[in-house]
Amino acid sequence: MRRLRAWWRSTRPADPEFVAALARRWAELPAIARTPAQVIGRHAVGCEGTHGVFPRCNLSCTPCYHSRDANRVRTDGAHTVGEVDAQMALLRRRRGPVAHAQLIGGEVTLLGPDDHAAALLTMRGHGREPMSMTHGDLDDDYLERLALGPDGRRRLRRISFAGHFDSLMTGRRGIPRPPDEASLHPYRRAFVERFERLRREHGVRFFVAHTMTVSPANLAEVAEVAHAAGRMGFGMLAFQPAAFVGDHRRWHEPYRAMTDDDVWAEIERGLGARLDHTFVQHGDLRCNRVVYGFWVGERWYPLADGDDPRDLAARDAFLEHFGPVNFIGSSAPVLLVKVLRVVLRHPRTVPIALGWSRRRVLAVGDGAERSSTLSGLRRVLRHGARPMSVVMHSFIDAADVAPAWEATQRGEVAADPSVRDIQERLAACHYTMAHPDDGSLVPACVQHSVLDPGENAELRRLLPITPVRR
Ligand code: SF4
Repeated sequence: MRRLRAWWRSTRPADPEFVAALARRWAELPAIARTPAQVIGRHAVGCEGTHGVFPRCNLSCTPCYHSRDANRVRTDGAHTVGEVDAQMALLRRRRGPVAHAQLIGGEVTLLGPDDHAAALLTMRGHGREPMSMTHGDLDDDYLERLALGPDGRRRLRRISFAGHFDSLMTGRRGIPRPPDEASLHPYRRAFVERFERLRREHGVRFFVAHTMTVSPANLAEVAEVAHAAGRMGFGMLAFQPAAFVGDHRRWHEPYRAMTDDDVWAEIERGLGARLDHTFVQHGDLRCNRVVYGFWVGERWYPLADGDDPRDLAARDAFLEHFGPVNFIGSSAPVLLVKVLRVVLRHPRTVPIALGWSRRRVLAVGDGAERSSTLSGLRRVLRHGARPMSVVMHSFIDAADVAPAWEATQRGEVAADPSVRDIQERLAACHYTMAHPDDGSLVPACVQHSVLDPGENAELRRLLPITPVRR
C-alpha cells in the first residue's frame, strides 16, 4: 500500500517544489520577457552549465569563449567531480528539483571515462539532466568506457552530447584545418554513428546535438550545414553567432558585420522552412531563438504555425495546463500517467491536441484538404517522424556585459538605453552558472566575460600543467 501511494505521488502532475521554483523564476524576469510565449517560469527554470571544472581544450577555435589561462589548467578528475557536486547542489537549492544542465568547460573528453561518468551521475543525483559538451573528436572506445564502466556493465542508460563542428576550429584529427564546412560532414556523420552503434550494441539511449559557431567567414555555409547535418540524426541544430568574448587573441574577424537575422535567414534557407522564433520564447529573444520541429522523410516541418490562431491557442493551453508538469527524468509510464491526470482534469485539452495533430498531418501531406490528410498520414507511417529543434544562442560582447553587470550589482537601472538592454537580457538569462563559495548564480555571459579570467588564473595555480615549486 505504501509503495502504491509513493507511485501515485510520483505521478502527480505538478510537484509543489517545481511549481515554487517556476514561480520564483517568473518573478525574477524583467517585464519585457513576461510574454505569453515565455517558457521560463511557466514550464522550465532555464538551462544550467558548469564552469572552472575542466577549462582545458586540445582544439582551437576562433573565437574561443574561454580566457587565455584556460589551457594552462590541468584536467583533474577529482577536482571536476568535487566542483560539479558543489555547483549542482547550489543549483538544486536555488533552481529547484529538475533542470537541464551542460557539463561544459574546455573539452569534456579530456576527462577519463570514469571521472566523466562520475560527473554525469553526480549531476543526475542533484536532479540535473546532463549534456556533455565536446568538440566531437572522440573514439568509440571512449564512449563505450564512459557508458559501460570497468566491469563491462552499463552504468549510463542514456547519454546526451553536443558535438561542436565548424571550420573555425583547428586541430581535429584527420582534418586539422578544414577548408570549408562541407569537408566536416564525414566527421559530423561519424559522430552520430558512434552513438547509434552504442545503442545497437549496448542498449544505451542517446540524444545528440550539433553546435556551430557562425562568423562572417562561414555565414554563407550555414545553409549547407543545416541542410546536411539536419538529415544526419542530430536531435538539435544549435548555432552561435560569434561574439567578442573570451581570449582576445582569437578574435580574427569583424563579427558585428553580420546580424542574428542574417544567420537565421541562412538556417531557414538550409531547412527550406520559415522559422518563427517568437512562437515560444526562452528568456530574451535577443539571446535565444528556438523552434521545435520534426522530419518526415526528406522534409523538416515546424511543430506549429505562429500565424495560425489555433496553434497559438494550443500553445497557451499547453503552458497553462501542462506548464507545471515536469517532463525531465520521468520514466515513460510515469509521464503517461501524469499526462492522463492532467487530461482528466482539463478534458478540453483533448480536442485542442487533436486539432493540432490534424494540422500537422495536413502540413505533411499535399494537395486538397482530404487527400492531404491521407497523404500526410501515409508519409508519416512510411517514414516516421523524427523530432529536431533549431536553436540560436547569441552571447553578448564582453565589453558590453561588464558595465551592465556592474550596474545590476549596484541595484541601478542604467540611464543609457544600450546598457539597460543588456541588463534586461542578463536578468532574463536562460543559461546560468553557480558559485557555491558565495551562493550566487550568474549568467554565462557574466561568467565568461567578467569572472573567467580571475577564476582561471586561480585554477592555473591550483592545477598547473607541470608541477611548480611553491
Ligand atoms: S548567457 Fe548571455 S546571451 Fe545567453 S541567455 Fe544569458 S545573458 Fe543571454
